Amino acid sequence: MNILILGSGGREHTFAWKINQSSKCKNLFVAPGNSGTAEIATNLEINVSDFKAIKSAVLKHNISMVVVGPEDPLVNGVHDFFLNDKDLNKITIIGPQQKAAELEGSKEFAKEFMMRHNIPTAAYQSFTSYSLEDGYNFLESLKPPYVLKADGLAAGKGVLILDNLEEAKVQLKAMLVDSKFGNASSTVVIEEFLDGIELSCFVLTDGKNYKILPTAKDYKRIGEGDTGLNTGGMGAISPVPFADKTFLNKIEDEIVKPTISGLQKDKLPYKGFVFIGLIKVGNDPKVIEYNVRMGDPETEVVLPRLKNDLVELFEAVGNETLNEHTIEIDDRAATTVMLVSGGYPESYEKGKVISGLEDISGSIAFHAGAKLNQGKVITSGGRVMAITSFGKTYKEAIKKSYQNIEHLHFDKMNYRKDIGFDL
Ligand code: ATP
Repeated sequence: MNILILGSGGREHTFAWKINQSSKCKNLFVAPGNSGTAEIATNLEINVSDFKAIKSAVLKHNISMVVVGPEDPLVNGVHDFFLNDKDLNKITIIGPQQKAAELEGSKEFAKEFMMRHNIPTAAYQSFTSYSLEDGYNFLESLKPPYVLKADGLAAGKGVLILDNLEEAKVQLKAMLVDSKFGNASSTVVIEEFLDGIELSCFVLTDGKNYKILPTAKDYKRIGEGDTGLNTGGMGAISPVPFADKTFLNKIEDEIVKPTISGLQKDKLPYKGFVFIGLIKVGNDPKVIEYNVRMGDPETEVVLPRLKNDLVELFEAVGNETLNEHTIEIDDRAATTVMLVSGGYPESYEKGKVISGLEDISGSIAFHAGAKLNQGKVITSGGRVMAITSFGKTYKEAIKKSYQNIEHLHFDKMNYRKDIGFDL
């Protein structure tokens, strides 16, 4: 069959790499893709939010499966767009419908969902500009640090964690009254601070059945020792060494099962990946957030460890027969290190030539913010490339990633040199 992947990051290159290994995939397209996907698929110059252009491409290229990488098209209803069109409604879409995508699109919606289905999470209340005074009172009732979250999508920047009560009040007002994050902060969720270590759990569901994929831990801050500004993610490892069998069982029983049954009870149609952001508090998992798609760079370590034919699994998602499949996972650990443009996550330059890719051996370079220009691979974004490796242990794997990075170069290249060192 012909398959289309929507997106242009390292996550989408990884999807393309994995889907390309399936004998079921005849022609693979990526919109808009990057220099990595150009090597193994046909890139289409289409914006992921341009549903009409996506429709034309799907019909023109006889596509029967669409895999949605990023959240925006899902939150904007790309799945529903297909279902409501008589020319498109037989096509398998990997990604939930709009109603269910609210689990990521609205933090208040996600918190209410968790409360309704007894899923462990931080205590919270939500506020609008009309209840600013109540928000101040709620902040006063909490202990620092204070966690303020813009309800809507804010490109990963809408969460503030503040030590000082007065500053928290100032920021609450800025979010609610002065639209600090635009419409996204017209409602703010204030949450109890959870002290623990974070990890992510990935679930593939057909809406009835589910399969748990390997856990991963990502590294969000730009600087070594988890310092400096937040980024889209600077590296990841899988599996997570501190998530032992007992803890994984707790995640499945206390979080995954009630999440999937909650989706059914609430009639939230869901065919795709659920990314559950977790925090381990003592020995207990609590949910920090839901995302309605795979993470980036977690995908770059999770999918390489999956032995199954991904297209077969996606077909089963479409047919609601995921229960007939068994997930097989590579025992080896996988790690990835993200190479970023100097200055990222603040301003940075683009268009730098990336050299040394031909010298990589024993690792995979998943391209992200990189594109082809006159036969050369050049930088086109902040996060440029994720270097993934396997090893018997994550320490062995990370060593290999760092050895291969030695061969790579572009002007002002930056990366964290301590991925996995905290574990
Ligand atoms: P992302 O960029 O991961 O999509 P987001 O903007 O959707 O993030 P959250 O994941 O809810 O927001 O929060 C961002 C980060 O803030 C978390 O990864 C976590 O480090 C921290 N955080 C969020 N909620 C809490 C909490 N209740 N206690 C402690 N830390 C928290």
